[in-house]
Amino acid sequence: MSYSLVLNSGSSSIKFQLVDPASHAQDEPFASGLVEQIGEDSGRVTLKHQGDKHVVEAPIPDHSVGLKLAFDLMREHGCGIEDVDISAVGHRVVHGGLVFSQPVILTDEVISMVRDLIPLAPLHNPANIDGIEVAQSLLPDIPHVGVFDTGFFHSLPPAAALYAINNEVAGEYGVRRYGFHGTSHEYVSQHVPALLDKPADVVNQITLHLGNGASCAAIRGGLAIDTSMGLTPLAGLVMGTRSGDIDPGIVFHLARQANMSIDEIDELLNRKSGVKGIAGVNDFRVLRERIEEGDDDAWLAYNIYIHQLRRYIGSYMVALGRVDAITFTAGVGENDKFVRADALENLEWFGIKIDPERNELPNDGPREISADDSQVKVFVVPTNEELAIARYADQLAKNS
Ligand code: ADP
Repeated sequence: MSYSLVLNSGSSSIKFQLVDPASHAQDEPFASGLVEQIGEDSGRVTLKHQGDKHVVEAPIPDHSVGLKLAFDLMREHGCGIEDVDISAVGHRVVHGGLVFSQPVILTDEVISMVRDLIPLAPLHNPANIDGIEVAQSLLPDIPHVGVFDTGFFHSLPPAAALYAINNEVAGEYGVRRYGFHGTSHEYVSQHVPALLDKPADVVNQITLHLGNGASCAAIRGGLAIDTSMGLTPLAGLVMGTRSGDIDPGIVFHLARQANMSIDEIDELLNRKSGVKGIAGVNDFRVLRERIEEGDDDAWLAYNIYIHQLRRYIGSYMVALGRVDAITFTAGVGENDKFVRADALENLEWFGIKIDPERNELPNDGPREISADDSQVKVFVVPTNEELAIARYADQLAKNS
């Protein structure tokens, strides 16, 4: 059996998984883990393998040391990269700009093109490139593949992709909607035609990726026609710590009246807003406990979240004209029956009716939660971005 090594490198962390590309979404990966606190005084590497968890604590000055420590830990516990057959390394790359619509083999030329996109993702792409270069130096003989978060949204029509701002400025600085979470929206949406027993090219659908980050997409015949994230992953739905859509005038107001710097406003909107900014917590399990205890802020945060989600669902129904399916995925979408029920409450007139009993069943793979007489089918499909990346990497490596 051969595996793909899947890497998701952030500025201070690396998530890694050894995945069998032929496995199913619900299967545990062969091995998985996390390198964290890179660049801080103390760091940690965690490995999960065959039901056991192993941890090493050590200073991790950079990504290179981090990945080597991860490989050492894997070796020690019987899942070393030399002990298994690795066909490909798949890297999650956040921003592919207008250049990359598909996963690609990471040649020097491609990496330099990813580097050129740094101005569009100044926090993410540099860390992704660090991870790629370190992994290539440790595994030089295996094909490395980049899978872009933005790739699936290359099909957005101009009216959905472009903002109504001065087109010279927009053109010069690449200001447009790129969309993110594309790997998840694509993976989840690909399950839906089979669930409906219809050919993929006639299916109109809405996918709701509700995790800590959250986004939604309108998809016609397998091609995305709209999505809620924009130039950056800050736009759209209310998220765990991100505001989602706000009046852009708020930024000027805070700069002028509160004397906040651009970095402070960036931090406010990306890390101190969303559900956490209102309720003080961003985990929906804790939010639910607070709501049940009568916490007004938790209730308010939840309602703002649901209100915004319903706005998007409504606008995508109109954009699509006819909707065959709405699908929930990611941590909140897969597990929170309250969010699912409230997002689609009282929409019978639009042909949407959830079956309360189906909605309450615990999550176990792709399933329908709509009533038999619901014209629009509603599904829960667990996402697995790592598996999607593993499959792309394996496929491209075989064809290279
Ligand atoms: P991300 O990949 O964006 O970090 P996930 O898709 O893993 O996020 O989602 C994480 C979030 O899912 C948690 O912050 C929590 O709010 C929510 N979540 C996880 N499990 C449950 C659950 N059983 N009930 C409700 N919410 C849950």
